[in-house]
Amino acid sequence: MVYDTIITGGGLGGLTAGAKLAREGKKVLLLEQHDRPGGCATTFKRKDFTMEVGLHEMDGPHAKDLKVRIFKDLGLNDRVNLLDVPEFYRFVNGRQDVVIPHNPEDAISKLIEMFPGDEQGIRTYFHYVTNSRKIMAANAGKPDQSLGTFLDETIIDEDLKLILLGNLGYYHDDPYSISLHYYLVAQGSYYGGNASYVKGGSQQLSNALMAIIEENGGTVKLNCLVTEIMFEGQQPVGVRCEVAGDKDKSVFSEYAKEIIVNASVPTLAGQLLPQDRGNILSEQIKNLNIGASLLTVYYGFRRSLFDIGNRFYSTFVFDPSIKTQKDIPGNNRAGFETRSFTFVDYSQVDSALAPKGKSVGAVCCIDYASDWEALDRKSYLKKKADVAEMFTTRCENLIPGFRDALELAEVGTPMTVKRYTLNPEGAVYGFAQNPGKHAGYLQSLPENMYIASAWGKFGGGFSGSIYSGYMTALDVLRKK
Ligand SMILES: Cc1cc2nc3c(=O)[nH]c(=O)nc-3n(C[C@H](O)[C@H](O)[C@H](O)COP(=O)(O)OP(=O)(O)OC[C@H]3O[C@@H](n4cnc5c(N)ncnc54)[C@H](O)[C@@H]3O)c2cc1C
Repeated sequence: MVYDTIITGGGLGGLTAGAKLAREGKKVLLLEQHDRPGGCATTFKRKDFTMEVGLHEMDGPHAKDLKVRIFKDLGLNDRVNLLDVPEFYRFVNGRQDVVIPHNPEDAISKLIEMFPGDEQGIRTYFHYVTNSRKIMAANAGKPDQSLGTFLDETIIDEDLKLILLGNLGYYHDDPYSISLHYYLVAQGSYYGGNASYVKGGSQQLSNALMAIIEENGGTVKLNCLVTEIMFEGQQPVGVRCEVAGDKDKSVFSEYAKEIIVNASVPTLAGQLLPQDRGNILSEQIKNLNIGASLLTVYYGFRRSLFDIGNRFYSTFVFDPSIKTQKDIPGNNRAGFETRSFTFVDYSQVDSALAPKGKSVGAVCCIDYASDWEALDRKSYLKKKADVAEMFTTRCENLIPGFRDALELAEVGTPMTVKRYTLNPEGAVYGFAQNPGKHAGYLQSLPENMYIASAWGKFGGGFSGSIYSGYMTALDVLRKK
């Protein structure tokens, strides 16, 4: 059988593209190497806890949020329940302790009260984040700059800059190498007045997208690793696959008119394309940096942390040794006893991740595969246990009673992300969004091959990947 579209990878980008195309009557085949759909948007079970692999908060839904249209179009609102996240984040660094609301007016008032000398800078910052698209349109053609430079030009107080950078890890690891344009659009959406968590975990969203594909005549094959994209002349015509984990390495081929790639672009260049084409793509992406990865400590609690007195959904902890923006990249590579982290307490919303009276939470910090890949098995496990212990101690200082409430802790490293997504270096946001980052490589692909993932032109995160998938589907449909 020749499908209309084969999708390589079942992360949010691939699933969204597949759901839209299937609803539009296309014969879709999605191939995913893992045993469940979702990539980073998955959950896993430990005892009676459902552990959220990735999602802390998804920007929106709000009036300017494209996902509102996408969810409506795909019928997702009948299938998933989005829970409001109560605040954007709490920021703590030993000198400051502040809760930043999602509503920009409230955030402005609170910050001006704390930093009256920076009133003008605070107003400028929020003008930029809440009018990002207009400002970018007005500045079209002018060179991009880094967020760090913008903050140095706009804000005087170093702690205020750090507060505004609390959630930098949602996008990148260094304020001086993240594109201001990219940051403004992404952060502007979090300041759109709302953010959400998917009730029951992000797996619910991934499962819903998979169900839409299947209910509309599409096929999803899990445990199927795409090993090669096959060409006839200039055009890709299909893929070769291997049943993942199958000792006999049974292989099969599938054919389609269009190929959508949700697997990473470096994987496409280095492994999936024929060598001559892969070399061309590798050349085009050689100046793009691979984005950071994340380390997570997944926690199951025998009590709800809300019941022991925690009142914050998402708390960002910066070590007091971070005095200015310049200290951030070094801290992201420092020992875990001082590295900045966020703690997410899912019991603050009715997350449905744990039985009544219990709860789940997660510590998350920027991390790099290079910290882990050279370790032998024993050292790797020992380091994971040490990291869990260090973060548990730091969380006990933040939330007294944390350790006592703890039932289990498990660490996922960048190597874990790499194993389950096949993303190089365990990258979670695709290419690093450096100032002036280009997406020229997308134009060099054959006309019936598309990228739908965090590695596409919208960047990473739930929103970037969902937009990428949906827009790719529209491109395919428009072409017809
Ligand atoms: C710990 C963590 C916390 C996060 N927190 C947030 C958050 O709070 N908010 C937010 O917006 N974003 C967050 N993110 C980022 C967000 O989850 C990702 O950017 C996004 O989900 C990436 O989607 P994607 O479509 O690029 O695919 P990915 O999730 O990267 O998945 C790619 C899929 O392709 C499959 N695949 C790869 N190669 C092949 C192949 N050859 N054959 C078959 N299948 C293949 C993989 O198995 C995988 O399922 C977080 C991520 C992590 C890991």
